[in-house]
Amino acid sequence: MAKKKILLIHTGGTIAMEGEQHLEPGHYASALVEQLPEYMGFASIDSMILCNLDSSDIGPRQWSELARTISSKRSEYDGFIVIHGTDTMPYTASALAFALEGLDKPVILTGAQRPLGALRNDARRNLADSIEVATLDIPEVGICFDGLLMRGCRTYKVNTRAYHAFDSPGCEPLARLGVDITLGKHIRRPAAPFRCCPRFDAKVMMIHVTPGMNTHLLMPLLEGEDHLDGIVLIPFGVGTIPCLESDVADFVGMATDRNIDVLVANGTTGKIDLPLYENSAILADAGAISGGEMRPEAACVKLMHACATYPDKGERHDYLCWNVAGELE
Ligand code: ASP
Repeated sequence: MAKKKILLIHTGGTIAMEGEQHLEPGHYASALVEQLPEYMGFASIDSMILCNLDSSDIGPRQWSELARTISSKRSEYDGFIVIHGTDTMPYTASALAFALEGLDKPVILTGAQRPLGALRNDARRNLADSIEVATLDIPEVGICFDGLLMRGCRTYKVNTRAYHAFDSPGCEPLARLGVDITLGKHIRRPAAPFRCCPRFDAKVMMIHVTPGMNTHLLMPLLEGEDHLDGIVLIPFGVGTIPCLESDVADFVGMATDRNIDVLVANGTTGKIDLPLYENSAILADAGAISGGEMRPEAACVKLMHACATYPDKGERHDYLCWNVAGELE
């Protein structure tokens, strides 16, 4: 059987960092795959450098470039691996999941908590696991880390000091990489023909509700030429907000009246359920949209994508309520 073709796209992160005092993006790990010689015979792996950054510097511009690159090389490769820092990996994974609609090949993001050049690192295993899953029939954007392949738009970083750096609460791993590789039954199949929509609107902000919150300081965000286009609101529990001595609901109402979308995301694990309480139903009454099981990371990127792609409010809201890549449930 012909070897599967994989394109490895380097964006940076700890996996290839070096330095004594602070870890910094080192030389591109052009030798990354060469350090796993046993995989040379397993797959045919090309590599390219998109950038070499700490992932805190990766955002809409790099997401678009990544999506365009994968889209343009789609017919040449069976799978893609994106080498990425762990700090913002769930954002980039979500961006690719939304930009690459109808994806029919695996796009696997991976990185490490300790650089490949360090002893006792996790880089080697994550890279090797990613190469294997990138050859399988998993047409999703996933994060491969610590023996698990997780749906990218459901993950968040749970630990900065452990090799188990990511979780995807409420969403079983797409694959478990133990002695055998076990695939999940819920792996999604493309529901529509492939299309690449690589636009993101950076005028979206995440606002975390706090007890007794007063929003008058936030009002300038809704005013003037440079107002926000969207807000991801992270309330308590299933979607409650303080109502007695707080004006959060008024703020949300003012935003939605001005055609600024408010998407409610889940700051814990579980699901947003606005009708459940009086103190959460008030958000729906003010025009906010429920984000279901979406994590704040995915909600933020989905809203950035929706604002840039659908100028029509009705279409935008339909898109926000559509379970595009398994992010909602
Ligand atoms: N600061 C690094 C980054 O996200 C952390 C890592 O890669 O683990 O680029």
